[in-house]
Amino acid sequence: MVDEIVHTLSCQHYEEPECFIGADMTLWPCCFLYGDSLHMYEQITQTTDRDFNDLTKHSISDILQTDFYQSLKSRWYASHPAHLRKCIRACGLKGVYKNKKVHDTD
Ligand code: SF4
Repeated sequence: MVDEIVHTLSCQHYEEPECFIGADMTLWPCCFLYGDSLHMYEQITQTTDRDFNDLTKHSISDILQTDFYQSLKSRWYASHPAHLRKCIRACGLKGVYKNKKVHDTD
């Protein structure tokens, strides 16, 4: 069921393309995953390395080559052992959640 929604994802990281830089100078695909990482870091990043995306230590191109970024799309599928629920919930169905927020401010 969830996997049927994957093709409807409107991912701003890939589509804009866009990244998010945390106040601690870490580089994220978007603010959604940065926010979740604050309270479930290892679940989101699949690593205990707190520096893998630190822009003061690594270049953007090196960070984008890490397993976290390289596995991002495959983790959209519920069958993936490290499935990213936030991607489905925030950006599934063409980002209806984000669209709703836009309409709410109209
Ligand atoms: S939550 Fe996932 S699908 Fe949505 S923008 Fe971020 S990485 Fe892309």
